Amino acid sequence: MVKSLTPKTLPEALEFRKHQRLIPLAGGTDLMVRKRSWAGTLPKFEYPALFIGGLAELKGINVKDGILTIGAAATLASILEHPAVPDIVKQAISIMASPAIRNAGTLAGNICNASPAADTLPPLYVLGTVLILQSTAAQRELPIAEFIKGPGQTNLQTDELLVAVQIPIQSYDVSFYKKVAARKADALSKVSFAGLAKVSGDMVTDLRMAIGAVAPRVVRSKEAEQLLKGRKIRDLAGLIPELKKIYDPLIRPIDDQRSDAVYRSQVAHRLIEYYIMQCASATAHAK
Ligand SMILES: Cc1cc2nc3c(=O)[nH]c(=O)nc-3n(C[C@H](O)[C@H](O)[C@H](O)COP(=O)(O)OP(=O)(O)OC[C@H]3O[C@@H](n4cnc5c(N)ncnc54)[C@H](O)[C@@H]3O)c2cc1C
Repeated sequence: MVKSLTPKTLPEALEFRKHQRLIPLAGGTDLMVRKRSWAGTLPKFEYPALFIGGLAELKGINVKDGILTIGAAATLASILEHPAVPDIVKQAISIMASPAIRNAGTLAGNICNASPAADTLPPLYVLGTVLILQSTAAQRELPIAEFIKGPGQTNLQTDELLVAVQIPIQSYDVSFYKKVAARKADALSKVSFAGLAKVSGDMVTDLRMAIGAVAPRVVRSKEAEQLLKGRKIRDLAGLIPELKKIYDPLIRPIDDQRSDAVYRSQVAHRLIEYYIMQCASATAHAK
């Protein structure tokens, strides 16, 4: 039998977490697959499950002082419906899994699962997302890139829960998301890409990009982004060879059942090029 605890409030959940080793379970759409056992038998959990998916305190989605806060138990489906959620996040969620999975799964679960192919991660990286982690003793904030250490590895302490995902609300002139997968629905990514940019006149004032499923963690290069910021639009295309040299050692995909390393690497480089050309044409429109 899977042992589980079902706290009624967040303080109760944190109290349980403080006193014993538990596995937080929100929608269970990753966990129940990861812990599955032979057909006809129950999943195997090393520690009891802590069911946090029903906690009312963690279900809210709201905006205050220019920050969008998404509670850790808000389902992917509810996030899709909220008007303040940035389009780039909605684009990623709308092609994740299937409606049934999106009705149960959460953004927090997608983050904490820390899969290099998790679809919401590239958009959350470029948006400058900050995670709120809470224990009975303290609350701390961590940028998403510092939270995820590698495949399935995070900086979450055993007495903590991720309670909220915070996204600064800003407007961008270019918003680009692409998931490359075997089919349009219910397929995990071979490669995913998110890019955001701001332009002013003929100049790029901010440009960010993040690539998923091509390395143990989402790839984001400050060096590359720095190279492009403050440049004239007309100079962007000419910088693509230099950009590729920066990304080449960072893009280190693996061969697996979904794709192979050569394909993933080529697609990632093509997406960088495509996105830069999108930025170039967006600036032209903005003039
Ligand atoms: C058929 C199918 C299709 C899928 N397709 C996709 C897809 O296209 N793209 C994609 O990215 N994913 C996909 N997934 C994976 C999954 O649905 C998502 O990652 C989902 O967002 C997980 O959310 P959850 O609430 O179900 O997480 P859970 O399974 O409940 O938890 C996942 C992990 O996060 C931890 N966790 C959850 N919430 C917290 C919290 N608040 N604090 C601390 N730790 C926490 C859990 O302990 C666990 O380690 C698919 C899964 C299935 C079964």
